[in-house]
Parts: sequence; structure tokens; C-alpha cells
Amino acid sequence: MGISDRYREERRRMVEELRRFGIRDERVLSVMEKIPRHLFVPEHIRHLAYEDTPLPIGHGQTISQPYIVALMTEALGLTGQEKVLEIGTGSGYQTAILAELAGEVFSIERVPELAEVARRRLAELGYRNIYVRVGDGTLGWPEEAPFDRLIVTGGLPRVPDPLWDQLAEGGRLVAPIGGRYDQYLWVYTKERGRAHKRALCPCTFVPILGAHGFPPGGRGNKGPFGLFGSSRPPEDV
Ligand code: SAH
Repeated sequence: MGISDRYREERRRMVEELRRFGIRDERVLSVMEKIPRHLFVPEHIRHLAYEDTPLPIGHGQTISQPYIVALMTEALGLTGQEKVLEIGTGSGYQTAILAELAGEVFSIERVPELAEVARRRLAELGYRNIYVRVGDGTLGWPEEAPFDRLIVTGGLPRVPDPLWDQLAEGGRLVAPIGGRYDQYLWVYTKERGRAHKRALCPCTFVPILGAHGFPPGGRGNKGPFGLFGSSRPPEDV
């Protein structure tokens, strides 16, 4: 069996597992069956690309676990036309998934080297509806606002005001909110200017640093609470 066949088979198995874990959106599942996640991780760990686990991508950052990517994407409820803002491009894997399911994707990454590699990779894969910019994503991308959907792929202490302001009426925002080392995944909907929120699950993301994020420094994402953090949604988000 050739290399690409092997990865195709591994992808199929990954998607089967996502289905077993409760992902139902067929569009999300079929896009994840198609996108070559192994091209978004460093070469020496490619053989792990279809395990349901986060993996290091350099600069102390990680590509998120496939289940969490699927869960967040499903929660966005994309129908094909949306203008999406993503904070934390990282490897660009989530960005590619969004680009398949939405109209246009604007993605902000703080680390210039990661942004550059992701931009090149996404162009090579043929995506023409993705715009990557280097900067502090907690300030959003005001020139392109409003956005129909907003996704943050790192932990935040709270939803930054600029991001909330740049979300369109009826829009949805998915973000991990909580402490530096463990968070809870929330879906916010903007209805007549007000936030309606739904908790998805506990999670552990690397922190989003910046004006409305966590201060730089700290100990990566290995916190004192273990991999899965608290088991209860916080009350005061
Ligand atoms: N979706 C990415 C996840 C990357 S991890 C993937 O699956 O590959 C989160 C990313 O957020 C890291 O690349 C980190 O550098 C970036 N980040 C941290 N603070 C940021 C900020 N203020 N603005 C934009 N990106 C930020």
C-alpha cells in the first residue's frame, strides 16, 4: 500500500472514531476525511497525525486534537457562505477545515514563523479564500468586521470586548474560556446584541497571549489540574 493510501485509511479510521465520540455533522466529518492532517505536523511525527491527540508544531504551540477540532467546527454551524474570523492559526489545519465549510476565513497568528508556514502550506493545498495575518488576535480584525462566526483556538480568561463587538448579529463565537492551564469550551450566540451561551466540555488549550489574553511567560500548557481540567463549567464567564 502506498503512503497516501495508508494515510487515507488512517483518516477513515480517525473519522470513524469521531463518529463514535458523538460528532454528527456529516459535512464536518467528510471534510476531516479529506484534509491531509499529516501535512500540518512536523515530518518526524507524521505517523501520529491521525491519532486523536494534540501534537507539537514548534514555538511551544500545538495542533489541536481532532475531536476538539471537530466539536468546535460542528458548534459553529457553518452553511457555506459565512465570513469567519479565527484567532490562533497555528498549523493552519483548523483554518483549512473552515475554508472548506465557509465563504471566507480571516485568521490571525501571533508567531510570525507559524503564520508564514501556515500561509504557504494553505496556498500549496490550493485554498484561495483564506487570509492570514500576524498580530494580536484578541483585538480582532476591525477592517473586515463584522464576522458571522468567530473561533478562538487557544485559552482566554474571558471573551475580549473587541471580538464580541466584531461578531455580527445572529453570529456565533466558539472559544475555550477559563484559566491559563485549563478551560471550558463555550458557544456564544449574539441575539439582539445579547449573549446566549452553551457549555460544550472541559478542555486544555495553549494560552492566547495579548492585550485581552494572558500575559506572556508562564509554564506552557501543563497546568496543575491535569490534562482535562475542572469537570464543571465555571459560573462567572
Ligand atoms: N488551530 C491551531 C491551534 C494552534 S494553538 C492548530 O490546530 O494548529 C494556538 C495558537 O494561537 C498558537 O499558534 C499561538 O501562537 C497562537 N496565539 C497565541 N496568542 C495569540 C494572539 N493574541 N493572537 C493570535 N494568535 C495567538
